[in-house]
Amino acid sequence: MPRRNRRDDAGQPLDQDLARRGVQAVQAWSDGEWLVRAIPGKASVKTYRCPGCQQEVAPGVAHVVAWPADGRGDATDRRHWHSGCWRSRDRRRPTSRYW
Ligand SMILES: [Zn+2]
Repeated sequence: MPRRNRRDDAGQPLDQDLARRGVQAVQAWSDGEWLVRAIPGKASVKTYRCPGCQQEVAPGVAHVVAWPADGRGDATDRRHWHSGCWRSRDRRRPTSRYW
């Protein structure tokens, strides 16, 4: 059965339930749905490895955290991406087996 509570319109207000968990958006990609959260630069205090380009996401750089929406992973499955790398994910698909 199709799920009727999907929000495909990015302009819609967030679900309260999702907002409470700190989830910014649910995005449907060719490989499934992803929960995506934007991290402002001032909230980024660690160095991460971007799975898109294998380069570092330096502290203070606004970026995106994404993880599978379908329960395949848990919090440890979150990946920190450069915002641009995430947006171009379909074109620059990671070769790593994480995905
Ligand atoms: Zn990157």
